[in-house]
Amino acid sequence: MLKLASPSALYIHIPFCTNKCHYCDFTSYVLKGQPVDAYLDALEQEMIRTVEELPPQRIDTVFVGGGTPTVLTPPQMERFLNAVQKHFPLASDVEFSMEANPGTTDVDKLAAMRAGGVNRISFGVQSFDNGLLERIGRIHNVDDVYRSLDNARKVGFTNMSIDLMFGLPGQTVRHLEESVKRALELDLPHYSIYSLKVEENTLFHKLYERNELPLPPEEEEYNMFLLLMEMLKKGGYEHYEISNFAKPGFASRHNSTYWRNESYYGLGAGAHGYANRQRHVNLKGITPYMEAAAERLPRLETHDIPEEEAMEDLMMVGLRLLEGVPASRFAKQFDGKRLEDKFGPILSKLMSDGLLSAERNGEDTIYKLTDRGVLLGNEVFGAFLEG
Ligand code: SF4
Repeated sequence: MLKLASPSALYIHIPFCTNKCHYCDFTSYVLKGQPVDAYLDALEQEMIRTVEELPPQRIDTVFVGGGTPTVLTPPQMERFLNAVQKHFPLASDVEFSMEANPGTTDVDKLAAMRAGGVNRISFGVQSFDNGLLERIGRIHNVDDVYRSLDNARKVGFTNMSIDLMFGLPGQTVRHLEESVKRALELDLPHYSIYSLKVEENTLFHKLYERNELPLPPEEEEYNMFLLLMEMLKKGGYEHYEISNFAKPGFASRHNSTYWRNESYYGLGAGAHGYANRQRHVNLKGITPYMEAAAERLPRLETHDIPEEEAMEDLMMVGLRLLEGVPASRFAKQFDGKRLEDKFGPILSKLMSDGLLSAERNGEDTIYKLTDRGVLLGNEVFGAFLEG
């Protein structure tokens, strides 16, 4: 029997950006002319309905993403964060993260974030090469990155992360090396480094279809991944998830909720949520979202996740964490069922291919990616879908 429980993680989406990056398929709309204050009203309506429907016990992690949450003005930021504090019971040691784009973070705004409870910032830096930044449609330059980090430190932020990307059009291994080197010089507690995925409905996809997107060859991208892992390791960072590196104690607690396939509230236009083996997706357009939120929970769809699918999800997201998936976690999420009974042949095949290892830990067995498995992660994750 599935036990009903309220999530202790909260995601909130702010779907506005100064412009649209060429690779972006997130729910984000160009800010100019958008009814931001009315959107924040609708968001508060959704907060009220959400806590009525599934009252939270305690929120341990909050992540405000986008879009670009830092396009809010300082008064909008203050109002938004007050609403979060008012409607959700945040733990005293809550991890409260907000995504920020360099170039949208002056001291006043950062001070409003800090006063409103934000204690972790994730900056979308992507590269330390102005030419590449322009090529992928980012509005900031490298100077903005340094200024934003200085401003954040001035108002007291210490828990900060930056995102970088590799496999960008025109990017070489040397470009990547330089960006990672400059990122590491900042000595931050956390780095996320993702490879570019060319998604449909993006400018990059159109260019790709026309053969006009000069992506690095696969082998070069592979070498970039090897190099960045080596550099981060030398810098003293733990590679704790395929794309994430942290100093001890600084792994993202919020994102670990997703990777452990645990439940979370998801609010805002286009946001996803997961609770009691049910997923929802909210309406995406700003007007449909606001109109719906005035009357009800602004869902585009809600569907039950069959046990079979939840099991596959747990393996696919769980193995992204280098700590692996303990058989006991599987049993806990699925009424004592054994991981080996469900996925025995797949586990054996992946182990004989050298992609997965099994470690004993007392009574428990932990399945985790080998070094080779980290490099061929998609092959491993896909195997659980085909099984
Ligand atoms: S800043 Fe982020 S969300 Fe906004 S357009 Fe660029 S990639 Fe998309």
